[in-house]
Amino acid sequence: MQRTPLIAANWKMNGSAALVEEITLALVSVPTEGADVLVCPPATLLRQFPTSVNFALGAQNLNQEKSGAYTGELSAALLLEAGASYVIVGHSERRTLNAETDIVVAAKLTAAVEAGLIPILCVGETQAQRQQEKTQQVIARQLDAVYASQPELLAKSVIAYEPIWAIGTGESASPEQAQQTHAFIRQHLAQYDAQAAVKVKLLYGGSVNADNCAALFLQADIDGALVGGASLKPAEFAQICLAVT
Ligand code: PGA
Repeated sequence: MQRTPLIAANWKMNGSAALVEEITLALVSVPTEGADVLVCPPATLLRQFPTSVNFALGAQNLNQEKSGAYTGELSAALLLEAGASYVIVGHSERRTLNAETDIVVAAKLTAAVEAGLIPILCVGETQAQRQQEKTQQVIARQLDAVYASQPELLAKSVIAYEPIWAIGTGESASPEQAQQTHAFIRQHLAQYDAQAAVKVKLLYGGSVNADNCAALFLQADIDGALVGGASLKPAEFAQICLAVT
């Protein structure tokens, strides 16, 4: 693989100080060369991780403003100070449940890069959009919203393809389905910056587990995974990290 793989845990609104300890312990045996490992817990748990961990930490969201009267929000600078080096941007749950538009997602991604966080931009289609054969159209729109006017951000991004119908359902995209869309994404990104498109990490997300990850990782354009449910089981998450190396 010409790109260093990345395995990222998205805990969503789950976890605890106890789980911080368990995952830290479970990941001790995962070699740090060959793959990058990232854990994105709820932001309140970032500081609970020992500074000596052998993996990176990330947040699940940020506010696009630098500071000010935004009650309950967290800026990129606050997340950096709490230990995050990555941030998930535009997860489908936030697009849906928090009404985040493409414009808001683009502003958040810009704010993340400007502050020095590595954004993981999530894109993906609904079941209905797939059935209507609109997968590529939807993803192209989500990518264009961010990179068409700011192609320089691509070299600083990670992108996660997360078909909405596969998230939390136990029904992962098949390796072939995922590869097909990843290849489309990489090809589409080449129009913004051909060199960056070759280098950018494309993660697959949606019901990744210890049983199905190896076949996904064999695909040419899949550079790792964004793992939800299975990342709450430290031993299984460690297995997924080991499978990619
Ligand atoms: P899942 O979640 O692995 O539980 O499907 C993935 C995600 O939403 O990032």
